[in-house]
Amino acid sequence: MSTDLNHKIAETLLLLQQAVADFAPVVFANSLGAEDMVLTDLIAKYQPDIAMFSLDTGRLPKETYDLIQEVRQRYSVPLTVYFPNNELVEKYVSQHGINGFYDSVENRKGCCFTRKVEPLRRALKGKGAWITGMRRDQAVTRGRLEASSFDADNSLQKFNPLLEWSNKDVWAYIRQNDVPYNKLHDQFYPSLGCAPCTRSVSPGEDIRAGRWWWEDPESKECGLHVGQRNKVAHGSGMQVASNPSLPASCERIIEIAARPVARQEQTA
Ligand code: SF4
Repeated sequence: MSTDLNHKIAETLLLLQQAVADFAPVVFANSLGAEDMVLTDLIAKYQPDIAMFSLDTGRLPKETYDLIQEVRQRYSVPLTVYFPNNELVEKYVSQHGINGFYDSVENRKGCCFTRKVEPLRRALKGKGAWITGMRRDQAVTRGRLEASSFDADNSLQKFNPLLEWSNKDVWAYIRQNDVPYNKLHDQFYPSLGCAPCTRSVSPGEDIRAGRWWWEDPESKECGLHVGQRNKVAHGSGMQVASNPSLPASCERIIEIAARPVARQEQTA
């Protein structure tokens, strides 16, 4: 493992420790993406007093359910799964249709609120801080993130301990520690979410181009991470974050290409 990656791991562990020392009880919102699998491994090994949870929106791809099961078998730290409120989902579907999120940004945000934000609020209730796997260079909406800040929307502290990690760091950690990950990543899905709102990307495309691909990049947050979205909102008087998002999958393609042939055939 490179000195740089070792340093980032040490910094991450320090931040997790600080979160528990200052804000317990602390929870980790596990999206089951590659970054969050790094955090799953670190928390299970070094900071098991941080509780983990995931949101099952009811629209996840099969590969994500497979990973939830794998996490349960691999790690001793329990992964609690929160589901949407059935009455809210029924109301949304009756008003907008089962796939109404394609019709407008407003409808899409309504679906994300129903299936993600409302369960997230229940999961965060009574907690002192929450942890996410967000990285600064993932998207234009994430350029102004801080490693630790007060999340006024959810009224608790929020930590982003992988903020300065690169995509390459994440995959180096996963490979070197044999961390389980979502098999859709092998099919050029760098960013994962609900099945109907996620597609694979082509070489050179933005890392989040496969999420809500029919919308403008600046509207592409689901409402789980409201603060930084507001900071880049049009008409707010603030500058759109200047960080360019990653050119998607060049690193990922190199990573896949470098694998043993048998593994590539399995995932082709
Ligand atoms: S990602 Fe798509 S399906 Fe999932 S909650 Fe948001 S709009 Fe609904």
